[in-house]
Amino acid sequence: MQEEDSKLIKGSSSNWEQEFLEQGDDAHIKTAKIRYRCPKCESLLVLKTGANGEFWGCESYPNCDYTANNENGKPVRAKRYFCPACQSPLRKKSFKDNVFWGCSNYPECKVTVEDDNGIPSSTKKYPCRVCGHYLVRKKSKNGYFWGCITYPVCTNTLNDEKGLPVLKKRR
Ligand SMILES: [Zn+2]
Ligand SMILES: [Zn+2]
Ligand SMILES: [Zn+2]
Repeated sequence: MQEEDSKLIKGSSSNWEQEFLEQGDDAHIKTAKIRYRCPKCESLLVLKTGANGEFWGCESYPNCDYTANNENGKPVRAKRYFCPACQSPLRKKSFKDNVFWGCSNYPECKVTVEDDNGIPSSTKKYPCRVCGHYLVRKKSKNGYFWGCITYPVCTNTLNDEKGLPVLKKRR
């Protein structure tokens, strides 16, 4: 009985290499992942899952903070969008279920822009007739509206209609 057992173990261990070599091409294709290098530090990029879905991050994070968006399994450069008020880059942020774009100059600049499928909903500027700054599209529980970027300094708001601010009608 004991002899049988040792024979079995010996047999299976010597077959391991053979089995490995006899693997079909499918197995090789599945294991050979395409590697992408970080443009900043030349480490490898790894696909990560964050609050906003999959993205590519540098293997040497936190030493290197390079990230790229994931598009069909490839890293793509995140497009840069700029704050309509101070021209600093906008950063994608999330708070609970809401994804939005916030100014990277926060807290000095508190501009936020609504997210629309991964891009800021509108980087167009609409002048605020009250203070001369700009209006940005925002979302509230009652729907979209346009508010002044200098809020709370200026509390001017306009209604939204199909993504554009509607001027208040004088009655
Ligand atoms: Zn890197
Ligand atoms: Zn700003
Ligand atoms: Zn204003």
